[in-house]
Amino acid sequence: MDLYEHQARGLFEEHGIPVPRADVTSSAKEAREIARRLGGRVVVKAQVKTGGRGKTGGVRLAADPAAAELTSRQILGMDIKGHTVGKVMLAQPIDIEAEFYVAYVLDRAAGRFLAVASAEGGTEIEEVAARRPEAVARIPIDPAEGVHSAKAGEIAAAAGLPPQTVDVLERLWEVLVGEDALLVEVNPLVRTEKGQILALDSKVTLDDNARFRQNRWDTEGAVHDDPLEAAAAAKGLNYVKLDGEVGIIGNGAGLVMSTLDVVAGCGARPANFLDIGGGAPARIMADGLSVILSDPDVKSVFVNVFGGITACDAVADGIVRALDGVRLTKPLVVRLDGNNAVRGRAILDERAHPLIQQATTMDGAARRAAQLAHTS
Ligand code: GDP
Ligand code: MN
Repeated sequence: MDLYEHQARGLFEEHGIPVPRADVTSSAKEAREIARRLGGRVVVKAQVKTGGRGKTGGVRLAADPAAAELTSRQILGMDIKGHTVGKVMLAQPIDIEAEFYVAYVLDRAAGRFLAVASAEGGTEIEEVAARRPEAVARIPIDPAEGVHSAKAGEIAAAAGLPPQTVDVLERLWEVLVGEDALLVEVNPLVRTEKGQILALDSKVTLDDNARFRQNRWDTEGAVHDDPLEAAAAAKGLNYVKLDGEVGIIGNGAGLVMSTLDVVAGCGARPANFLDIGGGAPARIMADGLSVILSDPDVKSVFVNVFGGITACDAVADGIVRALDGVRLTKPLVVRLDGNNAVRGRAILDERAHPLIQQATTMDGAARRAAQLAHTS
């Protein structure tokens, strides 16, 4: 998972890496207040999880608080490479004397980390590497040894960075290890006209496999940019929002994935991925249905269950109980097969909800759900 710049900046600051004073907001009015607090002149920076904001008008200087408000109003809502700007960060402007590039990145093939550093920062490193490969130093790091002062000195020397960057190089490694990151990148790392070293841009990619011990990001909403995904995660559901119109609930990741394919094969687009796994069907069904039904894109829902440890009658029972708490507003196509399928189907037949239909095959159910999505 990528962090936003302001979140990565916060981590850098916690680890003692010098960064410009800054604050973040989603309101242009508040941007004016922040600019005032930061001394008037500020850099207004779009918070999107993509690089190259500078070139696309997502990083702009504002001369005073009124200009900061106006610029923020222009940048908020802007589209940068398919990312809509929801927040801006306002930062104290820095007088740059030199721009460097430094990053630690996981080198999966080598089973190591790699320090990538260059005295030619500011532009995208790929461009520098293409134009002048000798200007980009690549130093392997043994993960067991990490980066201490000698190694940091080696990296700085190889890239032609000034010795004052060694401290930042060491702390940046501490960010990587301490925060369970797969990538930390500073572009540009600058030397100011007064000779101070500052991280002017901050990028961090966290290792999702370490989320269990970095759970502060769950509550800060960094993991789930989509509000429905956040709501689902809060209920412990394995839910991914997609952009189609057929809501999908299934048991087991494999079955859910093939359900996505079959629905797509019927000419409809899946609206989500929801795996109910093998847990308590009534609760999960109620939670899952409420999340899916509150997605305005969803036109029909396909529940595809192959009963195993979770028997079909328990799932059917879960659906019926869910109807007590969740008002069904969209057609539901249910396909139950496997363990106790006959009893499961009977439970749904008995409930006879006008919006619930059953199908005996996965293909038939997918076709029906696709049709309903297109007609309702
Ligand atoms: P990116 O384009 O998404 O990587 O965004 P950056 O945060 O790296 O900003 C783009 C460029 O704007 C940087 O490379 C700098 O050259 C410039 N920039 C950003 N902040 C400042 C600042 O405070 N002062 C000056 N002079 N330039 C800045
Ligand atoms: Mn940058």
